[in-house]
Amino acid sequence: MPVPGLGLLSYRATGPVHKGARVRVPLGARSVVGVVVDEDTSPPQATLKDITEVIDDTPFVPPAVVDLARWVGQYYAAGPGGALALAMPVAARQGEKESFRTARVAALLPAATSAVLKGAKQRAALEQLQKRDGRASLADLKAAGVSGATVASLQRAGILHTTDEVSMRDPFAGGGDEGRWTLGPAARTAPELTTEQAHAFRHLEEAAASRTFRTVLLHGVTGSGKTEIYLSLARNVIERGGRVLMLVPEISLTPALAGLLRARFGDRVAIQHSALSDGERHDQWHLIRRGDVDIVIGTRSAVFAPLEQLALVIVDEEHDASYKQDEAPRYHGRDVAIVRARMESALVVLGSATPSLESAWNAAAGRYDKVVLTKRVLDRRLADVQIVDMRREYAELGPDVTLSRPLLEAIADRLGKGEQTLVLLNRRGFATVIFCRQCGASLECPHCSVSLTFHRAQRRVRCHYCNYGAQVPKKCGACNGEYLEQSGFGTERLETDIKARFPGARVVRVDRDTIRRRGAIAAVLQAVARGDIDIVVGTQMIAKGHDFPAVTLVGVVSADVGLGLADFRAAERTFQLLTQVAGRAGRGDVPGQAIVQTLYPEHYAVRAAAAQDYASFYEREMDFRLTMKYPPTIALINVIVKARTSEGAMADAHDLVLRTRRYHPHGHVVGPAPAVLSRLKDEYRAQFFIKGKQRPAMREALLRALEERPEIKRRAIVDVDPLNVL
Ligand code: ADP
Ligand code: ZN
Repeated sequence: MPVPGLGLLSYRATGPVHKGARVRVPLGARSVVGVVVDEDTSPPQATLKDITEVIDDTPFVPPAVVDLARWVGQYYAAGPGGALALAMPVAARQGEKESFRTARVAALLPAATSAVLKGAKQRAALEQLQKRDGRASLADLKAAGVSGATVASLQRAGILHTTDEVSMRDPFAGGGDEGRWTLGPAARTAPELTTEQAHAFRHLEEAAASRTFRTVLLHGVTGSGKTEIYLSLARNVIERGGRVLMLVPEISLTPALAGLLRARFGDRVAIQHSALSDGERHDQWHLIRRGDVDIVIGTRSAVFAPLEQLALVIVDEEHDASYKQDEAPRYHGRDVAIVRARMESALVVLGSATPSLESAWNAAAGRYDKVVLTKRVLDRRLADVQIVDMRREYAELGPDVTLSRPLLEAIADRLGKGEQTLVLLNRRGFATVIFCRQCGASLECPHCSVSLTFHRAQRRVRCHYCNYGAQVPKKCGACNGEYLEQSGFGTERLETDIKARFPGARVVRVDRDTIRRRGAIAAVLQAVARGDIDIVVGTQMIAKGHDFPAVTLVGVVSADVGLGLADFRAAERTFQLLTQVAGRAGRGDVPGQAIVQTLYPEHYAVRAAAAQDYASFYEREMDFRLTMKYPPTIALINVIVKARTSEGAMADAHDLVLRTRRYHPHGHVVGPAPAVLSRLKDEYRAQFFIKGKQRPAMREALLRALEERPEIKRRAIVDVDPLNVL
């Protein structure tokens, strides 16, 4: 498991089975592992096949999580298998039983003190054991030069005994980000909450005490101290016997937060995210399953963690697009968290400085409670935001400008004062386009309908969609012209320009090209925190959630990377990014400044972000969504059909459109049209949308259409509540 495209199957049980237990069953000629999701006690049909083996005699996946996975499979039109697979460790999907790694450990017996030792080897062994408080694994002893034979001779003499003990693969101790994170002593004690925090806390505490399902939107400006509220609430809930699930959007945010949770709550904290090794994930999962932890922190798939007595779910940075999975099941971690809380009568807190339109709309409609934090803690001011009109910079300085004059001056000023700067640009690479001056053709990916990005350090051009790479050509492939030019720039170019401008500055770049290994981001963040870095250049990796107390200046280069695109969420994304990144400045004692470079200085998303005015942005944007009938005012399903030719993709999509319309006559099916990304990995893509008020009816109509064309279904991507429609 999981088997793609497979729905639920029925088998005959010859003995007792539990919901959530794994079983081995025949599937065609194969034998596969499945999970029991339901029992039917009516007399079985004669044609049913028998379960071959019951693997677990108790529920393996908690029954509530089984129900959650079924909900996900259905809601996102993805089938139950994929979601259930997310709810267990990798090896468990093949039927492996709980398998903690064990180590053989030697421990001294009381007799050791009076024992008469034979020879130098035994004496050395005893010394090694005494150095380790009388206990050590045989592996450690061997590394210290004590052989297994010596240990065995001491055991025969009654001086020590040996046992097998569980040896945890602990992400906090390993070489990953969690292991590297160290915290100052201040992290160990909770600060006294400010009046505003305390007020928010009391509201949430009350909601938690009611032990009913509630959703609360915690809308607090950047630096308002939401994390301390989560921690106080978690403590409160745990003291009453409940357990807590905390979701963050990015793996890079877990080390700091997990470290903080450990400092406050001790070792009853577990982590679940995809960068853990399979072994660590297995051990953490089983710790949770056994009820040995009170808090689980992780990224979106942690929403399926096997916690019981769940009383509180926290979704931090709830607006973040990383909560949406971009492969099947295409679920949204925040939305699934809310469903889980509903199923288990828990409180769910959605925290953000820039709530998604969905959540703000739900709060406005009274479906969620809302708690607001308007001030930063300790009377820190929000950053001053200055907008730079890049059209003027280009007009006066030429088209090759990357850094505007105001930004350069401000960086120089900070360098002089020994303060830190963050420069954000949401594009990797050196140049985003290489084109021929003679014929104008640009270098495209041979497999996708996008231009190739030039990476100077690697001396290669790369496709950011399929990872195709090639050497930089000397001539134009279309006309053989010899003058190839670059245009558009990414973080690598920005880093080069900054280093050239400020030769003495210590500059570090943070993007997917520089941060590849586990542990790398934590190392960079710590170097920044220690003051070893003057300027950080990076993609949105640096924009999210991290606390940089000494950063007083944030520069945003090309603030409007999405605004020109045909994506109805572009304004929302821009607003969120600008507000969040401005929030990185001035979190310490020195007030912060943000400088935003843009080609659209009049755009309402840019203006509202500069004014840090969520309410006016929300109003403008909701107007647009209502008029144009976009989410959250309606439900949306995005369907993409892939085919070998563009005609084929369009024809198949058209076929599905007609069938969907037939089954949902009052619905609104828009398209088909070639997708904006019309070719990806050698496949052509056509796209259509289903818009409407009744999601179930829309989904059912589409599913019926797909069932009638199984050959197309295999090539179709169905995205319910899409975030990315391009
Ligand atoms: P947010 O998540 O709302 O952006 P954080 O939770 O990161 O804000 O808090 C910002 C900073 O303020 C952190 O360094 C945090 O330790 C500190 N902080 C939070 N609450 C208090 C408080 N009551 N007193 C002092 N410092 C606080
Ligand atoms: Zn490509």
